[in-house]
Amino acid sequence: MAGVTSDDHMSLMSITRDDVRTFYERLLLWSVIRPNGCQPSMPVRSSWQRCLDSLAFLCDTQTGGKSVSALAIQEYPDRLHYWIACNGPSNRAKVIITWLLGELHLWQPTDGHDPLPKRILLEMVVLCRARVLDYHRRLKLSISGAYSQTSGPKESCLLIRFLDALSKNDDLADICEKAFLFRFDTMNQRIKDIIAQKPDVKAWRRIRHLLGRLGAWPRAIEIVLRCWAGFPILRRKSTVECIPDPQALVRTRDGEVNLARVLRETIPGLDPNGNDLQSRHILPRLRPIQPEESGDASSPLTAHAESALADHIIGIENFQFLGGVRSVGVSKPSCYCCHIYLACHPLGLTPHQAHNKPYVKWSPMVLGELGDDELVVTTAFGILSERLREDIQQAIRDGDDGEDQNSRRDSVTDMTSSRGTYSVRE
Ligand SMILES: [Zn+2]
Repeated sequence: MAGVTSDDHMSLMSITRDDVRTFYERLLLWSVIRPNGCQPSMPVRSSWQRCLDSLAFLCDTQTGGKSVSALAIQEYPDRLHYWIACNGPSNRAKVIITWLLGELHLWQPTDGHDPLPKRILLEMVVLCRARVLDYHRRLKLSISGAYSQTSGPKESCLLIRFLDALSKNDDLADICEKAFLFRFDTMNQRIKDIIAQKPDVKAWRRIRHLLGRLGAWPRAIEIVLRCWAGFPILRRKSTVECIPDPQALVRTRDGEVNLARVLRETIPGLDPNGNDLQSRHILPRLRPIQPEESGDASSPLTAHAESALADHIIGIENFQFLGGVRSVGVSKPSCYCCHIYLACHPLGLTPHQAHNKPYVKWSPMVLGELGDDELVVTTAFGILSERLREDIQQAIRDGDDGEDQNSRRDSVTDMTSSRGTYSVRE
């Protein structure tokens, strides 16, 4: 990688076309070695981080990843400024946060019946109708599937309770509330026990997973309201702004990529014929990758919401995170690149949760252009490229697939299978 261009913070660097090519070849190779990513990173979040993540989650209304949102709050002496970034267009997220802040500023927490959580939930199920309906439809199918595999009266009773509570219900807000309460119900433990006894029966896993997804909206609303009541500084006057559309890198390679060649370049000294233990298991999986397979021809690289937001903030002079907590909220756990990129980012951000799957079209934000085809990005890009090289080397050395799907925590609901160790109440 080429030299640093910023004198003051050592936070920026210039990169050449070769640096970009090397990075994307490594990323492509990594996506073949670890198509499902490596082990998720699930640092325990502070209540403030959970609040930021929940605010971002309420902005994420669409299926398909375009509305994945990131959010940070800038503190001024007299006001707070909410910055929003999305994978796709971000105007809708701005409308949601503006509306939500309006409701919260008028809110008077009471000990008795509080209508605000339900009002927010009703608004959310309208905005997220397609997602809620999709989860509900799949839940009904999973309950039917579990019936066909049920062997005992206890399981049948459990399914009938689900059917009564959720399956025959058309009130989407009510379904989400009941799904949320499931987390604290003895039914949750009973399903975990069933999954532990019958790890091959996928229908029960799906039921638990989808209940977690449906309950994610009431959960996010509860976290935001609790935080709003607990942190008076949030009640300052506030403004909301979306970051400008981020400029992404452009891959310039033509033709196919020979992954065996990339592997040899990444790990010099590796036996090219696979005669050593390290390369024997991986070489058969390496084949030439055509440009259309990694999306070159059809779609451009994109800067994911959380990385784009961090890169935008680095360009704001004297940016002060609210309360001095250097944290960015994200609606979902991060991908492999975003996770490392944020962890190494010159902003010095708090670690974020990550599912760690690799996306070959990931890009940092381009922060400037120099002559001779050189571009300016943050130094985190160089660290990420080196980390890719190290992870490829480690994976080849270990010679295993390095993952246990059963112990994974779901990226949206935080719920694990029965073999997981995390609490659903986190
Ligand atoms: Zn990402």
